[in-house]
Amino acid sequence: MALARRTKRWADKGTKIPFSHREVGNGRIIVIGCHKIFLAANAFVVLPMSFSFSHLSPVRRPDIVDTVPDRRRRLLLWLLPLLVLDVWLVRRWWRRRPTPAPAPASVSDADETPPSPASPRRWRLAFPTPQTRLLDEPTEDIFMPTASGRIESALYGSTRTRESGGRIIPSFHEGIDIAPTMRDRRGRPLDPVFAAGDGRVAYLQPHAGNSNYGIYVVLLHDDPLGEVYTLYAHLDRIAPGLSAGDPVVAGQEIGRMGHTPSSIIPLVRAHLHFEIGLVRNLRFERWYRMQREKPDHGNWHGMNLDGVNPLAAFSARSDDGMFSMANVLETTPAAFELACRVQHLPDYFIRYPGLWQGPLFEADRPAIVLTVCAGGVVLRGRTASAEEANALGAQPHCVLAVDENLLSRNGRGLIGRNGGAWRLTSNGEQWLESLLFHPNTLSPTLSLAPSHYKNNAQ
Ligand SMILES: [Zn+2]
Repeated sequence: MALARRTKRWADKGTKIPFSHREVGNGRIIVIGCHKIFLAANAFVVLPMSFSFSHLSPVRRPDIVDTVPDRRRRLLLWLLPLLVLDVWLVRRWWRRRPTPAPAPASVSDADETPPSPASPRRWRLAFPTPQTRLLDEPTEDIFMPTASGRIESALYGSTRTRESGGRIIPSFHEGIDIAPTMRDRRGRPLDPVFAAGDGRVAYLQPHAGNSNYGIYVVLLHDDPLGEVYTLYAHLDRIAPGLSAGDPVVAGQEIGRMGHTPSSIIPLVRAHLHFEIGLVRNLRFERWYRMQREKPDHGNWHGMNLDGVNPLAAFSARSDDGMFSMANVLETTPAAFELACRVQHLPDYFIRYPGLWQGPLFEADRPAIVLTVCAGGVVLRGRTASAEEANALGAQPHCVLAVDENLLSRNGRGLIGRNGGAWRLTSNGEQWLESLLFHPNTLSPTLSLAPSHYKNNAQ
């Protein structure tokens, strides 16, 4: 039971997995657990045997001098295979550890000066699988719906529902689910998964059981706006030799389509979950570790990756396939405006300076206004006006404006009606805290509820 509970925590977006499946579905975690128990038990056997071996000396026990060589041989027969097995297990465990996330590239605790955008040039955005009809009318041979069979459920947005407290509530899908174009005789997808653009590998997660994303890869691409991420989830495997930090080019094979974790995605629903968007905070890793939560995917945890609609991104490409995230954000409708108090310019606007509007941030006027879309992506920010700061009063944050039509099925649930007024929900408070987190700011530690985030990655 304790192991099952721990497994539940490790499945960071796993609250949608039926409980009975977790122990099976995250089998790799259990295998890793058994692995460690076996090594520990082995040590208990090997150490006393080694001790006995070293003390079986004909000098010390002349009375049994004839039998010692036999006993040493017998002990050796046990010891050597156990030692070889231990060495093999340790080497295997060492090789299969998740690739560590590279250290944050540009964030220093004191840095408040927006750097230049990473690249002045647009980049070529390519389809991530051999499926090139993503902009056609959605059908089941292009996209993979959930078990509901509704094709909309494969698309981005509040396209799904989930059960919470006995109620069915809307749920947000932050990517698109692309169906395989080819399968082998056993029904396994054969589609290669391609890098959607030139860039570099930010993170590889080779363990299917560590996330609802299963085996996944995160790439970073230089965009005129700043660094844009793309994410490729539910892979069967990652391309051999690919490592964090490696450069990739558009169209390069980075893995094979799969259905990991297989406990929540049956083979028949194998697909690629594809996301494209902005990285919320390069200090997220520190914030997340303060919550003492596992698994630790560094800054490349899905909670820190705010996806836009990938189909809007592909539509925003020019005829030659060139792309900038700015074109997508310009056409993404705002769902609400939020005023909040900050002590530092958020890292988000340091990395995406083009999203900061109006006068530069002033530490002596530390109220800012965030414009946010229904998917939780911050579209722009600015210093609050005197009236907005007054509206904020002594509160840490307040909702200034809401487009109720857009929020009618707001699966992210960042804001909600409370006493007739729109306020941040507990999910929203966690979202805001991780967005604004700065190590030099004393920040209340909220209990983390990963289920409220991207729990529909499958
Ligand atoms: Zn998906």
